[in-house]
Amino acid sequence: MMMVIMKLVLLVFAICRLIATVGLTLDPTELLRLELKGQLSLDPSDVETASVDFGRMHRAEPWGVLHPATGADVSRLVKSAYESTHGFAVSARGHGHSINGQAMTANGVVVQMSDGKPGMQRNIVVSQESMYVDVWGGELWIDVLSSTLEYGLAPKSWTDYLYLSVGGTLSNAGISGQAFNHGPQITNVFELDVVTGKGEELTCSEESNSELFHAALGGLGQFGIITRARIALEPAPQMVRWIRVLYSNFSAFTHDQEYLISLHGHQDSQKFDYVEGFVIVDEGLINNWRSSFFSPKNPVKISSLNVNGDGGSVLYCLEVTKNYRESDADTIDQEVEALLKKLHFIPNTVFTTDLPYVDFLDRVHKAELKLRSKGLWEVPHPWLNLFVPKSQIAEFDRGVFKGILGNKASGPILIYPMNKNKWDNRTSVVTPDEDVFYLVALLRSALDNGEETQTLEYMSDQNRRILKFCKDAGIKMKQYLPHYTTQQEWIEHYGEKWTQFYRRKMEFDPRHILSTGQRIFKPSF
Ligand code: FAD
Repeated sequence: MMMVIMKLVLLVFAICRLIATVGLTLDPTELLRLELKGQLSLDPSDVETASVDFGRMHRAEPWGVLHPATGADVSRLVKSAYESTHGFAVSARGHGHSINGQAMTANGVVVQMSDGKPGMQRNIVVSQESMYVDVWGGELWIDVLSSTLEYGLAPKSWTDYLYLSVGGTLSNAGISGQAFNHGPQITNVFELDVVTGKGEELTCSEESNSELFHAALGGLGQFGIITRARIALEPAPQMVRWIRVLYSNFSAFTHDQEYLISLHGHQDSQKFDYVEGFVIVDEGLINNWRSSFFSPKNPVKISSLNVNGDGGSVLYCLEVTKNYRESDADTIDQEVEALLKKLHFIPNTVFTTDLPYVDFLDRVHKAELKLRSKGLWEVPHPWLNLFVPKSQIAEFDRGVFKGILGNKASGPILIYPMNKNKWDNRTSVVTPDEDVFYLVALLRSALDNGEETQTLEYMSDQNRRILKFCKDAGIKMKQYLPHYTTQQEWIEHYGEKWTQFYRRKMEFDPRHILSTGQRIFKPSF
């Protein structure tokens, strides 16, 4: 009882401060009546955390931050925003790893779905029999992995980095080198609990409330807040053989990538489990955050490769993996050998390492720790992610990798193809209209070290030039993790899916309360 009174007093105090500082147009008794199990915080450090993101290019201060204890807390808050006379925005924030303020709001409350502390799982329930796991929407993927591994199971489809929330990646797509085979993460979900913009918490799946289910997947937080997801599992591999090979010829590189992803229907032994790749425009390979793979004992200099191919100094690295159990270690060599034989990389550029499955999945975190120690993690990230149709990827290579970028990347440039038939067109995400399309991810970090090419202005300008080049050349790309500032641009982005997107918005969030940081709809308050 004492605790309840204390909580009430603190809440009244917080609301009075809120009214005093921002002149909140809410009736404070509305918030008092919410009976939250979690905490509505005005603590400056909570507000500060919710005001920034990984991109470090935008800032918006919310009125307050809700740390929900349950889906019912989220539901109560959204309902009060929906029903209040004046209304206010509610933005879910997972781990805040957006680039352009997508999880921020200046007109309301941020719901902090992840507490950002790995190892603090809320409620992860594994069903061994049905091969799925139920998780809280703010759970980080690293925690989902460690919980399912206790049962010898793991999700099938990943992102390259695991310190992202389930709700955050499912609101985009969630892709990595497994997507050619299993589809993106949104293809590997059985069921969701979603709090709509009217404050109702609904369970949805292919079978029930299917419109909401498909809307929320890849829905950029526009239709509801995902409070629970039921994710498909498979037996977890123990080990990974991780292989990188180099190309100087872009068409040989893409030919091989496309060949490898065409094997998706084959038996496991006859295909790789992961297919990615990256572009190397800088001289020297030991200069970016994913290059630790190349052992410093065995550094590879581009000049030593003596390649003049079709592209001057641009090189392409194909990255593949094969999962195995320790008991199958003797057959893995033959399987990998048979697959590599079919490829056309530069001879003697095969780099191989074997490591536990978890270490492979968590590889980017190692790089994060290194960058953090040098103060290079919390810097502006003008990232640009594009889905480029297969038929136009060669033109993109000519215009961007061998053109606009010059010979300075300032971060990894990923490139890998995916099969469109592994994506469900009923979800909200849009992809190019071809059977195969590439992810091109320019993952750059801006620095203030006096070099013009490293500045935020320089990279932002290059991004604009890349987008303009695509437009002028008629490259029918779609942005992944899209960022636009006008509704007209969003309408173009969604193309023929816009009508459905708009209709779903009117149905599930008619007051435009949710995820206003995406800047798709103007709030109606
Ligand atoms: P946030 O930034 O917190 O939120 C993103 C959007 O989703 C916001 O609009 C927010 O309102 C909404 N949202 C958040 N939680 C919920 C919820 N529970 N319900 C409904 N809406 C919600 N992406 C890939 O696909 N593959 C990768 O390999 C990959 N690697 C990355 C590596 C790094 C280092 C970083 C910074 C990002 C990477 N991303 C990758 C992008 C990442 O998937 C997205 O930025 C994702 O949104 C981040 O999740 P988050 O939890 O930080 O989301």
